[in-house]
Parts: sequence; structure tokens; C-alpha cells
Amino acid sequence: MLTQRKLTLFLIMFVSTKIHHNFMQIPDLPNLIHYAIPFFVATVIIEVILTVKVKMEDYQYKDAATSIAMGLGNVAIGLFTKTMVLAVFYFVYHTFHLFDIPFTWWAWILILFAEDATYYWNHRIAHTSRLFWASHVVHHSSQKYNLSTALRQTWSGSFYTFIFWIPLVLIGFHPVLILVQMSISLLYQYWIHTEMIDKLPKWFEFIFNTPSHHRVHHATNPQYLDRNHAGIFIIWDKLFGTFEPEVEKPVYGLVKNIETFNPVKVAFLEWFYMLKDVFTSKTNLINRIKYFLKPPGWRHDGTGILSTDMRKEWKEKQQSQV
Ligand SMILES: [Zn+2]
Ligand SMILES: [Zn+2]
Repeated sequence: MLTQRKLTLFLIMFVSTKIHHNFMQIPDLPNLIHYAIPFFVATVIIEVILTVKVKMEDYQYKDAATSIAMGLGNVAIGLFTKTMVLAVFYFVYHTFHLFDIPFTWWAWILILFAEDATYYWNHRIAHTSRLFWASHVVHHSSQKYNLSTALRQTWSGSFYTFIFWIPLVLIGFHPVLILVQMSISLLYQYWIHTEMIDKLPKWFEFIFNTPSHHRVHHATNPQYLDRNHAGIFIIWDKLFGTFEPEVEKPVYGLVKNIETFNPVKVAFLEWFYMLKDVFTSKTNLINRIKYFLKPPGWRHDGTGILSTDMRKEWKEKQQSQV
């Protein structure tokens, strides 16, 4: 039961992030993404110059403009959702947490790995459950792959995907520690969205998520579908069986591309299609609910084609050719 005392305590804790919690000195929550914006602008421009002048290739400015608009929208929405998420995390933290993990050097090492494993599972589920895919699909909707693609971020995900990080709060990682690490992970993932970097030294490709690994993640080639969900460390994909190395040239985008540069459509089209399936399909309640939970492509009448089907077909073709 939420007593009035508890609620007051929570509000006091939330209003100031500079509170001394027992032995704990809690730093301010820096908005790392805001500080990184000038760096994003400079590097996107450098990549445009390198693509057009050095590689003599086309650069699709319209596509990049949509990605940048999605990024700006995401940052603007984040002004609200970050406060909301922090409030929820604080509430959970002050209701229950297992350990008092202090702000020390080893806590940052722990959170680096714990947050990255959490990111991996959040991202894997974002690809296999349509309720989460509806917001994550935005990041995959470009048919190009460059630094601007990294900025193509969801407008709806930050309202609810934070639930995956709640276990970290329950373990006892401080909400500020978790939110800072979430931003660090997002910043790390920026530079891997490029075709300018081929393959990095073997040891680096072995441990870290790299441009090569993430190109696979953005590709629609059947063998690449729903692979390499890593954030910072690629080890989780290798550990949990979703790793695929980059061999064939990736074809970027979605299995069924959305063919629009309108940011509002990019943000909400899949929500529209999902809700249409939920509410207009002539089927029972269980199947309607399944439209939220099942992977993209699933149909209640069994006619849907999933990424697992496409990969299976590709594998069988490969084997028959040997
Ligand atoms: Zn993804
Ligand atoms: Zn990406």
C-alpha cells in the first residue's frame, strides 16, 4: 500500500537529484545527448563530404533530413519522458531495492555490463514482439546506412520501453546511474552507423559492437534478419545465439519498406497497422491480443511470413546448393 508518508518521501527525493542518500553522493543527471548534438552535426557533414567528394557516391539528403527530424523529435519528447522515467525509477527504487550500490568506480563497471545485457534483451524483444516493434521500426525504416540513420529514433518508445530497465532498479542500481549508462550506450551506438569503416581489428570485432556487426542488424538479407541486437558489447549475441557475421553485402531497410519521408508517418505508421490488425481482424480476443505479442508479419490465419521463416528458407536453399 502506498502510504501518504511514502508518497511525500518519494516526491522530496524526486524534486532534488542532489540528495544525500545515506552514504551516497548522487551526482547531477547530465544530459549527454544534448552535449553531443554539435558532434553529431559535424560528423554527419564530414560523412556527406566523404561520400560525395571522395567515394563519388550519391547521398540521399531527403532520407537524412527525415532521420534528423526523427532525432530532434526524439530529443524533444525526451525532455518529458526522461523526467517521467526518472520519477518511475525513483518510485520503484524507494519502494524496494535489493542492494545499496554506491556511486563508485566498480558500480560503473557493473552497470556497463548489466545495462548492456538489459539493452540486448530489450532490443531483441523489440524485434520479436509487435507492441515494441511498433516503436522500434522507426530506427530501421531508412534504406540507407549512414551516421544520420543513427539519429532516426523513435517518438513513442521512450514512453514505455523503460520497463525493461526496472529490474536494474530493483537490484539496487541508482536511477541516475542507470539513465546515464543508457545515454552512454546510445552515444556509443552512434559511430557504428556508417559504411565508411569496413572491419576493425579482430579482437575489437570479437568484443565490441562495430559498424560491420550493426550493418548486419540493419539489413534485410534473410540471413541477417533479427541478428546482432547488441548495444556496446557483441558478446550477448554470441552468448544467446543471435550473432551473424557480415559476409554478403547488406541491403538496408525493412522487409516491406514504408516509402515515405514524412516524419509523422515514419513515427506512427506501424502503430496504425498494428491497431488495425488488432481491431479489424475477424478473429477471437486471444488472436487479437496476439497481434501485440507476436513478431511482425504474424497473421492469425497462418498466412503470415516471419523473419524466422525467411531465414529457414534461405538456409534450406544454401544447403541444397552444397
Ligand atoms: Zn533493431
Ligand atoms: Zn542502428
